[in-house]
Amino acid sequence: MKYLVTGAAGFIGSNLSAKLADAKNSVLGLDNFSSYYSPQLKRMRCIELLQPRNIEVVEIDLANLDKVQGIVLDFQPDVIIHLAAQPGVRTPLSNSFQYIENNLSAFGNILQSAVQNKVPGFLYASSSSVYGNSTEAPFKESNTSIRPISIYGATKLANEILVPPFVSRSATRARGMRFFTVYGPWGRPDMAYFRIINSLLDGSRFNKFGDGNVRRDFTYIDDITSGIEKLSLELASHAEGYSDVVNIGGGNPHSLNDLIEVISSKLGKNLKTSVINSHPNDTSLTCADVSTLVNLIGISPKVTLEEGINKTIEWAQKVEIQSRLKDWISSTN
Ligand code: NAD
Repeated sequence: MKYLVTGAAGFIGSNLSAKLADAKNSVLGLDNFSSYYSPQLKRMRCIELLQPRNIEVVEIDLANLDKVQGIVLDFQPDVIIHLAAQPGVRTPLSNSFQYIENNLSAFGNILQSAVQNKVPGFLYASSSSVYGNSTEAPFKESNTSIRPISIYGATKLANEILVPPFVSRSATRARGMRFFTVYGPWGRPDMAYFRIINSLLDGSRFNKFGDGNVRRDFTYIDDITSGIEKLSLELASHAEGYSDVVNIGGGNPHSLNDLIEVISSKLGKNLKTSVINSHPNDTSLTCADVSTLVNLIGISPKVTLEEGINKTIEWAQKVEIQSRLKDWISSTN
């Protein structure tokens, strides 16, 4: 199969591209190496995960429709997996155009290109942020009264709303995947687990937002990449014009305090914290109902927080990684 993966230099995109190539698929990556966090980390993922598998990453901004159309026309993928986006919920208002440009304009461009070029499968990253402060946990895809509380979450829900009218009379099948706090080796330096590991390794203070009782449905990267691969194969069994949305989450939320405890006990150290006010865009709980996922592909995420954190710490302690963690963290908010 021919896969076009956008955001291929990103955390999920690089790990997914490597997995798809290992399964003997042909993979072409796209990324603009955005400066939201260290482009050097993104280039290092390409060197370590993609180049050894002969995966090319074309440097392009998906906000440019002509270039996106050209690549889709030339490559003729069987499946597009669209992961490129401005991630995170804490980007300040003055930079909120990043959400509009990368999560709405760029999204529209790749979606239009997929449909116009009759690409059979289009899968895209959505987020647990679409659920906002939903009180009905676990969160179900069938809940249509959800209200995102961040601009990021709103753009992801807007993507989901845009897709059915684009694909319903086309040759394309589409699937939105709502990811829940993905973590693991080669992860994102704006995320709490990444910063906690670094603080414990180098003794620096961790800025803890709020009392640590917010709970997240942490999902290990390998569970996400296996889920995406299986969901892309399952999507092909549906009729042209079909679209749906599916949660991919662990189904077992842990608090920030639990996360700190798991990482601290693995490293045998106490974390120094500075407590700051919780961020207004942070929801208090995310928790996936995974019954749709299980119905579609027969499995749900299995890696426990302890197992996933142990693998992440092993990666972070490699000399060439540990020596760069601080720079990667200071490259972002
Ligand atoms: P990431 O930032 O590591 O990867 C996204 C990549 O997209 C980056 O390499 C960036 O340079 C690229 N990109 C951004 N805008 C682009 C544009 N206009 N043109 C081309 N490339 C562009 O993020 P990630 O954690 O790998 O997330 C992947 C997707 O999953 C995103 O859509 C994100 O919103 C979604 N998601 C992630 C999580 C998580 O916990 N990691 C949770 C929910 C949803």
